[in-house]
Amino acid sequence: MTENTQKQPKPQKLVGVKGMNDILPPDSARWEWLEKRVRGLMARYAYRNVRLPIVEPTALFVRGLGEVTDIVEKEMYSFEDRLNGEQLTLRPEGTAGLVRAMVEHNFLYEGGKRLYYMGPMFRHERPQRGRYRQFHQIGAEVLGFGGPEVDAELILLARDLWKVLGLQDVRLELNSLGQPEERKAHRAALIAHFEQHADLLDEDAKRRLHSNPLRILDTKNPAMAPVVESAPQLLDFLGEASLAHFNAVKAILDANGIAYRINPRLVRGMDYYNLTVFEFITESLGSQGTICGGGRYDYLIEQVGGKPAPAVGWALGVERVLELIKEQGDEQAAPVPDVYAVIPDVAALPQAIATLQVLRQQGVSVQMHAGSGEGMGSMKSQFKKADSSGARFALVFGAEELAQGQVTVKSLRDGAGAQRLEALDQAPSWAQSLQSI
Ligand code: ATP
Ligand code: MG
Repeated sequence: MTENTQKQPKPQKLVGVKGMNDILPPDSARWEWLEKRVRGLMARYAYRNVRLPIVEPTALFVRGLGEVTDIVEKEMYSFEDRLNGEQLTLRPEGTAGLVRAMVEHNFLYEGGKRLYYMGPMFRHERPQRGRYRQFHQIGAEVLGFGGPEVDAELILLARDLWKVLGLQDVRLELNSLGQPEERKAHRAALIAHFEQHADLLDEDAKRRLHSNPLRILDTKNPAMAPVVESAPQLLDFLGEASLAHFNAVKAILDANGIAYRINPRLVRGMDYYNLTVFEFITESLGSQGTICGGGRYDYLIEQVGGKPAPAVGWALGVERVLELIKEQGDEQAAPVPDVYAVIPDVAALPQAIATLQVLRQQGVSVQMHAGSGEGMGSMKSQFKKADSSGARFALVFGAEELAQGQVTVKSLRDGAGAQRLEALDQAPSWAQSLQSI
């Protein structure tokens, strides 16, 4: 007796990891809405989908993104495989993994590729609005083509996406990082400039002054703005070929009525970029205003061990894009079922469910009432749930109707209360009348 009544300690409630969000209904419907539009648009540009591992060898990111970058220095979730000691990392971005996969599968052997991906990325940052530790990116990448036309195509694609999603007030910033030799000369000038103003540099900048001075331009520290503003500009160090590439991209954008601003200090956060870099920025999201960033990365494929081939791409932050849609008040209606099935008694379940299956096959969205395990619950409570489901119709599988081979169809919204009887064996013929157009 005593041992049974003794109180067990209540299990402690477990909570999710800080900065990693659950995406639940009704919010998840907005994600599906966005993903559907992205897929449609990608198809119109003939980009094909890839799905890649979330875990990659740590070396891929260290080598690909650059050792002296925010991501590699501070933000990676890295761990050791407990069986073989392999160093692994939760992907902080998608480009390096995509390039790794393309090289591994000789995908570029048959020529250039246009690809896109969607999925979670992981960075150990300080969580705040628009900045999370697990966040989601959609990326578009074009591998194997070196011309400015694909840089422009990717920008047109992103622009079209903002249109399809109804986004306003997104501006485009553009720059060219030139080629590695051009950056060498700029680097020397940059170091000289920052050495002259060493007292204005923060700790990160001091540390990076000789290892990766370009990264200093990417600082988020407002106190450093003046010294960054007055720094020598890469554009002044570009040779003829780099300038020609930049001008060709701009000419295509101009011809397509795409406005942009040249931002000579735009360098992006990873080392793999060269030539064209760009960001789409909004003022509506505070300091987390960059919704999409990208550029050329002509040397990454070789760096990952592939045969040298040029490439260019971008990635957008899904959370930020959805936040912007919300900010603009363009709320999508949450999806509701067409029909809520009210089932007064468990005895009606087999026949009711068989009918619901027929309706679903006809494309009707059906939410079935589910009981407690001890019964189906009162009609009153079932109708309450039918109402709150948002369904336009209730199907009532009462015992009397069923005995006649029929079901009651009751309107819950327009002309609420109106009802009619339908024959169970004729379900395919009346299914359409339940569907919202
Ligand atoms: P930021 O300067 O805001 O840190 P980033 O340059 O590190 O961005 P990228 O690596 O270029 O970002 O990633 C592309 C996009 O992914 C960003 O423009 C942003 O929309 C989104 N993004 C990046 N980091 C996060 C994060 N921690 N949480 C949510 N979205 C993010
Ligand atoms: Mg960042």
